[in-house]
Amino acid sequence: VVDYKDGAWQTPQIVPYGNMSLSPATSAIHYGQSIFEGMKAYKSADGDILLYRPLDNFKRLNISAERMCMPELPEDIFMQGLEQLLKLDAAWVPPTSGCALYIRPFMFATDDFIGVRPSSSYRFVIFSCPVGAYYGQPLKVAIEPHYVRSAEGGAGYAKAAGNYGAALYPARKMQDRGYHQLIWTDAKEHKYIEESGTMNLMFVIDGKLITPPASTTILKGITRDSVLQLARDMGHTVEERKISVDEIVEAYKAGKLQEAFGTGTAATIAQIATIHYNDTDMELPAIENREISNRVATELDKIKTGELPDPHNWVYR
Ligand code: PMP
Repeated sequence: VVDYKDGAWQTPQIVPYGNMSLSPATSAIHYGQSIFEGMKAYKSADGDILLYRPLDNFKRLNISAERMCMPELPEDIFMQGLEQLLKLDAAWVPPTSGCALYIRPFMFATDDFIGVRPSSSYRFVIFSCPVGAYYGQPLKVAIEPHYVRSAEGGAGYAKAAGNYGAALYPARKMQDRGYHQLIWTDAKEHKYIEESGTMNLMFVIDGKLITPPASTTILKGITRDSVLQLARDMGHTVEERKISVDEIVEAYKAGKLQEAFGTGTAATIAQIATIHYNDTDMELPAIENREISNRVATELDKIKTGELPDPHNWVYR
């Protein structure tokens, strides 16, 4: 835990996990200056603790901080905090394949006042908890025709708490209709694919891996970047470009929609079984036939746990 006050970050402290005491007027609660990150640490076969791309989470935290009018966090506070936490929590990093220690860094505004303005004091905290292997079933998703997660000029690219709060209601409505997740579309026309609730989205059409560009309206996922890089390394054609709902439907009708999946820290790669659009459920090919995503998923898991070489220096020991 470390506080920011009088224009400077104070001395970080390790404290036992427990409740925090806050004023009812704490501005983060009322005006939403609250950002976070999600990352994982894995245990290698010989017992080393491996962090996955922590500097990328650090950079994204500061991108979110700038957009939410919060102070920049110095790299040494982030990295030393992680290192100390991992030393203390090493015993909690699960050794079994697929399991990991989930790490949640976050920053929120701590001034107590009534009035809409940026706070002058903040708190940065990191906590962790072990998480199991992600054996979720392939997802049934639906394309969202009405609600919007983010618009040009908004804060979609920031990992800001408010983005998630505002997304709960549309997501719940989709769940009530029997879908695991919704696919956000662009704010103007609901014509282009954006991302899902906690994942970026990728499609394989006619052998090409296609994903929406890292615009200002989606979160630039670290898993997204890893998957694109590994697919390129394997010699696949990768396209970061706008992808319309019509293109997906047409590819499906022509039998060319071969794979669809989400990418994120929690799931790594979450296969999509069906996509609902305009009263139709598009049934995608069997999971075992999905060459690109299956291969990338296996390779990425093995890089993260030190089983495979790490050509891009993603693993931090
Ligand atoms: N989009 C959203 C909205 C997310 O919450 C996440 C999870 N952080 C992602 C995409 C995937 O990002 P990452 O691969 O960095 O976990």
